[in-house]
Amino acid sequence: LVVLGIETSCDDTAAAVVRSNGEILSQVVSSQADLLVRYGGVAPKMAEEAHSLVIDQVVQEALDKAKLTEEDLSAVAVTIGPGLSLCLRVGVRKARKLAGAYALPIIGVHHMEAHALVARLFQSDLQFPFMAFLISGGHNLLVLARDLGHYIQLGTTIDDAIGEAYDKTAKWLGLDMRKSGGPAVEELAREGSHETAQRLQFLLCSDAAIHVAEASEEDRKARADIAASFQRVAVLHLEEKCERAIEWAMEIEPSVKHLVVSGGVASNQYVRSRLNKIIEKKGLQLVCPPPSLCTDNGAMIAWAGIEHFRMGRYDPPPPACEPEDAVLDLRPRWPLGEELAQGRSEAR
Ligand code: ATP
Ligand code: FE
Repeated sequence: LVVLGIETSCDDTAAAVVRSNGEILSQVVSSQADLLVRYGGVAPKMAEEAHSLVIDQVVQEALDKAKLTEEDLSAVAVTIGPGLSLCLRVGVRKARKLAGAYALPIIGVHHMEAHALVARLFQSDLQFPFMAFLISGGHNLLVLARDLGHYIQLGTTIDDAIGEAYDKTAKWLGLDMRKSGGPAVEELAREGSHETAQRLQFLLCSDAAIHVAEASEEDRKARADIAASFQRVAVLHLEEKCERAIEWAMEIEPSVKHLVVSGGVASNQYVRSRLNKIIEKKGLQLVCPPPSLCTDNGAMIAWAGIEHFRMGRYDPPPPACEPEDAVLDLRPRWPLGEELAQGRSEAR
């Protein structure tokens, strides 16, 4: 199988071609970082326009880099949710147009499931069941992956997702956001120490960093300390939740051996090493894909598509000339799995 994956759920337009043996033939990502800097966040209408401008080119480039044409594809996979519906629409339209023109089956992919499943692309012997901690721009999601399409949600955030907290902190520290906020905070944190961590501990993470940052705009060392402190406190929260979730998961599935950490924030070295300590202490192995597969990318969508396609879960090719106003199967709000934590008194 050779599958094209298309991703437009948020601010990156991405496409990739992946073989079912796990070979990534191409990966193209066009980022809207410039827009993010200019407008300080993702404005859906603007993001939609940016996706529309580059989608054809990104897909073409993915095919060219893979040295393939549309005729060589077995199927097209596309993110249908969760995400911004205006943005999802751009990717889904492109996927349906292509699938219609070349009579290709189409696979609608859950973006967060793809963040988790990409670990099986990276590590081909990773079997179900496994745990996944998905930490990204929009989610802190702890799940027990029992099987393909069968996830039990162990925990989620009631506040900002950690990636968003990193982005806000970067903004308030006045950092260069062109590569997104997380990497900028990580870099600055290396120069600092977490001596202000105590002050941040009581106020929650990013909001606390904002207050402290205002007091020290000029002083790089002070700002590096804030970045380091923010990082320490934010990751402490992750560690606690991770540890508790492992205990629950082991009650349900004692055979779990691996914990996948994925999503944009999993690119962070400090996050990886701190979580790895907890995971090892609990007797599990960490599986953390490389940063290019942790942040939004088309390969994870293609791979999730391959996994579902193999199980016979796909839609037949759409009509060759679908009307522009055709109703699309978009799922902007689409929970992954059932919620287990809600019924537990110790859930938070
Ligand atoms: P979601 O997957 O929840 O829909 P998203 O797709 O927008 O959100 P991702 O692309 O998975 O998010 O991750 C982007 C987030 O990861 C951003 O908030 C970014 O700041 C953060 N991030 C990326 N690299 C790092 C890093 N090195 N350290 C911390 N955060 C990082
Ligand atoms: Fe994502």
